[in-house]
Amino acid sequence: MKHDPRRALPAVGTLLELDGVRRLLTTAPRDLVTDVVRSVIEHARQASAPAPSDDAAWVGAIEAALVQRQRSTLRRVINATGVVLHTNLGRAPLANAALDAIRVVAQGFSTLEYDVTTGARGSRHAHCTALLTELTGAEDALVVNNCAAALVLSLNTFADGREAIISRGELVEIGGSFRVPDIMAKSGAKLVEVGTTNRTHAADYRSAISQHTGAVVSVHRSNFTLEGFVASVPVRELVPIAAEADVPLLHDFGSGLLLDLSPWGLTGEPSARDAVKAGASLVMMSGDKLLGGPQAGIIVGKATMIDALRKNPLARALRVDKLTLAALEATLALYRDPARAVSAIPALSMLTAPVMSLEARAGHLVAMLSASGVSSRVARVTRTEATVGGGAFPGARIPSAAVSLEVASPELLEAKLRNGTVPVIGRIAEGKVVLDLRGVCPELDDELGALVARALA
Ligand SMILES: *Cc1c(COP(=O)(O)O)cnc(C)c1O
Repeated sequence: MKHDPRRALPAVGTLLELDGVRRLLTTAPRDLVTDVVRSVIEHARQASAPAPSDDAAWVGAIEAALVQRQRSTLRRVINATGVVLHTNLGRAPLANAALDAIRVVAQGFSTLEYDVTTGARGSRHAHCTALLTELTGAEDALVVNNCAAALVLSLNTFADGREAIISRGELVEIGGSFRVPDIMAKSGAKLVEVGTTNRTHAADYRSAISQHTGAVVSVHRSNFTLEGFVASVPVRELVPIAAEADVPLLHDFGSGLLLDLSPWGLTGEPSARDAVKAGASLVMMSGDKLLGGPQAGIIVGKATMIDALRKNPLARALRVDKLTLAALEATLALYRDPARAVSAIPALSMLTAPVMSLEARAGHLVAMLSASGVSSRVARVTRTEATVGGGAFPGARIPSAAVSLEVASPELLEAKLRNGTVPVIGRIAEGKVVLDLRGVCPELDDELGALVARALA
């Protein structure tokens, strides 16, 4: 008769007495270790694989489960995907100035809502406003939790119970479960769709306007391109239409681009200043896309309208915390010197790095791997194409360089890299694991090399 391994499972108390487990108790709380021991026994009871065969194997299983349990769920990873502003990987990495500002403000007390000149209560909304108006040319500005919140707040303020007119070509989904029609509906505005998916004309907006209209909305097509038989009405031409109807024109602009990146081959995306100049009443954007700052929703535009937003009770529910304001203010300040912004803001320095430098780094990594015994048939420098990500420059392909790894099972290697001490997120293309360097900060190269060498060992 076959032996039933479930009968042989040890008791919790027995395992807790093992030397290896007692050692764990010197660094982890007893309740946690006990709980982990229990879960390891339970796992052995249910798993199809055989239970640990001896004391050492039990200790090993318990130790591994404890490490797993104590690890933060929010961890840093190395972004070797070739998508720089990867929404699932946290979008823009912050500039050192922003990190320093967070530390200073978070460590103690701050002028968050206190005016030191008068010694009286100040406003949280006062921060970043001057910088935002200076950098965009708008009259006033407000910062909320994210761009989705900016759209909800704006629509709720001006079009609650009224109609919001939008082109069918702009009823889009922008990653991270942001669907324009759903967001608009939650704001209390009634969606009025005009035009068709590929073509919308000024006359379509005009004929939809009535005494029920609360706002005209324009959403930037930030993560896809429409080509072929297409027509849309630029913001500039929507301005007189909204003005005639005496309703605000709300422009969801998205990317938060503050600089002209065409010298680096990134063309066709308007900057925030261009968007403001086009004349919408309010322009909304994210803080953590091309702006390169923390997650935030930035609204700039007409002073009277920004003021109305501030007075909406929803503004309180959507407000940002001091850490965000500290990071955003420090990031925005870097833009006063555009050359400095490009080198100091990681998102921008990554997007503008010359492909030659990426190739040189890939070569250095391959040499590193070769020094640790990885064959030159396995690891090679490859030319790739990276993308901006985060809903900006959707059609842009940025020349990039990668280390490509040719192994028997790319799926296995890709999974090993993901599950290392610091996860390395790459992609599989043409049967190889491709680690694109466009989104990897150069300071991480040595660590990346070591992680890859370990995964290949
Ligand atoms: C990214 C994007 C959003 C969503 O921004 P969040 O800051 O993630 O809420 C909204 N609109 C446009 C046009 C975008 O590109």
